[in-house]
Amino acid sequence: MVERKRDPDLVTVAVDLNVKQLAVITVRQHSQVIRTRFVSDHGLDQARFGHLKRIAKKQWQSGKPVTGERSNQQLWAHIRRQNLDTAHKTARAIVAVCERYPGCVLLFERLRKIKAKGGSKSKRRNRKQANQLRGKINQLAREKAYAAGVVSVEVNPHGTSQYCARCGCRGVRFTYQAGQRVPGTGGKLFFCPACRYECHADFNASVNVHHSFFREFHWQPRQHKRLHALSG
Ligand SMILES: [Zn+2]
Repeated sequence: MVERKRDPDLVTVAVDLNVKQLAVITVRQHSQVIRTRFVSDHGLDQARFGHLKRIAKKQWQSGKPVTGERSNQQLWAHIRRQNLDTAHKTARAIVAVCERYPGCVLLFERLRKIKAKGGSKSKRRNRKQANQLRGKINQLAREKAYAAGVVSVEVNPHGTSQYCARCGCRGVRFTYQAGQRVPGTGGKLFFCPACRYECHADFNASVNVHHSFFREFHWQPRQHKRLHALSG
């Protein structure tokens, strides 16, 4: 891998896995992003939340079956089936991008759990399902990549969502409300106060996965240590 990293023509395909944008795939060669693909969940997260709310409601009303409604077992089976189908489709989309660039390396972040901020039992359950889906996409994409002869590498996720993919400074997540940037951790957009770069937050994270692989920015642990050693 060290030798491949030194190949100046090496193509890297980075994947950032999220909830509504299931995968943001960026392809990089010669330090340039040459292709981007967003794989949306097509409303899966929202629909699943609806199913989980129905399950919770029926558990609360237990003993009083509602006519014409599917049982909770059927709903759970439906949720699992949909998650698995979506994981296969997303994994296929990732590997299809890799297949366009023979000899490329597929990059994933080591997965972190996306925490649900409080909320109802259904919301927490939905977040858990979303995390399981991300894990499944990661696993299936690696398996399919391996079968297609594509090498995959897991990179350190440190900093990929907080720092600017252009200049490496710490940025903020925000949303637009009435034309104003409103900062918030749930914001879908990213803004860097240092270089004024603004983009989709998941795209920024995906580009940072390449930086993490090549250890290009100061927020990367190994270089960080080196900087400390130099100053100390
Ligand atoms: Zn910047």
